[in-house]
Amino acid sequence: MTPDPSTQEKVRETTDIGTTENLKLQKQDQNALLNGATPITATLSTDFTFRHKIVWKNVIAYVIFHILGFVGIYMALTFHANPLTVIFTFAVYIIGGLGVTMGAHRHFTHKTFKATTATRRVLMLLFILNGQNSLWEWSRDHRQHHKYSDTDADPHNASRGFIFSHVGWLLSRKHPLVIKYGRDIDMSDLEADSWIMFQKKHFLLIYVLISILLPCIMPVLLWNEHPIVSLFVMYFGRTTVGFNVTWLINSLAHISGMRPYDKNLLPAQNQFVSFFALGEGWHNYHHAFPWDYRTAELNTPFNFSTTVIDFCAKRGWIYDLKFGKDESIKRRIQRTGDNSHPKYGNPDEFKGTETLWNFWKSPSNPTYKTRDHKPGPITITRDGYPFIYNGKK
Ligand SMILES: [Zn+2]
Ligand SMILES: [Zn+2]
Repeated sequence: MTPDPSTQEKVRETTDIGTTENLKLQKQDQNALLNGATPITATLSTDFTFRHKIVWKNVIAYVIFHILGFVGIYMALTFHANPLTVIFTFAVYIIGGLGVTMGAHRHFTHKTFKATTATRRVLMLLFILNGQNSLWEWSRDHRQHHKYSDTDADPHNASRGFIFSHVGWLLSRKHPLVIKYGRDIDMSDLEADSWIMFQKKHFLLIYVLISILLPCIMPVLLWNEHPIVSLFVMYFGRTTVGFNVTWLINSLAHISGMRPYDKNLLPAQNQFVSFFALGEGWHNYHHAFPWDYRTAELNTPFNFSTTVIDFCAKRGWIYDLKFGKDESIKRRIQRTGDNSHPKYGNPDEFKGTETLWNFWKSPSNPTYKTRDHKPGPITITRDGYPFIYNGKK
């Protein structure tokens, strides 16, 4: 078979990557391209000339939702609501939050631990309480985010700056590469779970019943809260906070903080995000070791989700927890870290990192990049974890 010129061009591009570790994969890629098959590696980065098309109905919906959310937060903070409603809302925020961090993220998406069927159902229910996407779609987006981090195939590509990675990606049409590569994300494990597929199929009905009605009806039944107040505080207020805290992991924790584990990754260690997101802001570690159930090293503060996972593991509700060995973490720090690690880093060599101040100067500038991170081409390997090419490896 004679390859057409465009195929030859693609072959040349993949060959140009030129890293020893990946040469074998690239060779297979060349053969795949020459035979008309799908290549197993691809070079991706961010095309800053691309402009996302804004979806105005989403913009209007999110603006209205946030206005209602701020009314709910105001009602809670000024005690227009019964104090019991405020306390109960906070409790649901924490418990429901675990459905996202421990459930959707660490268990269903990353498979960092196994869980009994009953535990899986509880985690799924807690996840639904937050009023986010279907569990299937949430996990697909997140697997894709890890596989193609901070490139155009990442749904919330943080190379495009804070606004896009925070909420802009939900207010605009997907980049064609997000659609293209999204189709290849392996979701077979979740698709084998009939409960997950049931929630995907009947998303709206389950949303109304469990995300809105169930939490809002409790204060009304238990201590006679006004239904409208309950709706504003428990649903609009709590969901608005939940949305933004989850989005901060995609935006702020991909921009601001140190990179002790891998300076070539955009995600950073951000304790502000970790505090509010129950331990999900230690994001440089998490992207370096996505299969680790702790999403941080041992004894890292602000990691409530890990505490709860350990608690459940002691009771046998979850098991087979995966985590990094200290020795291999140390090797990674010494090989790719930015020298900011308190134990294995080197303060004299640490060049500093992007500050919040610098970041706010240009939050929506599409060409914005953190100071010591240059999002370069990224080579994707078959196992789904990114192999960052920076010309040295
Ligand atoms: Zn991330
Ligand atoms: Zn993750």
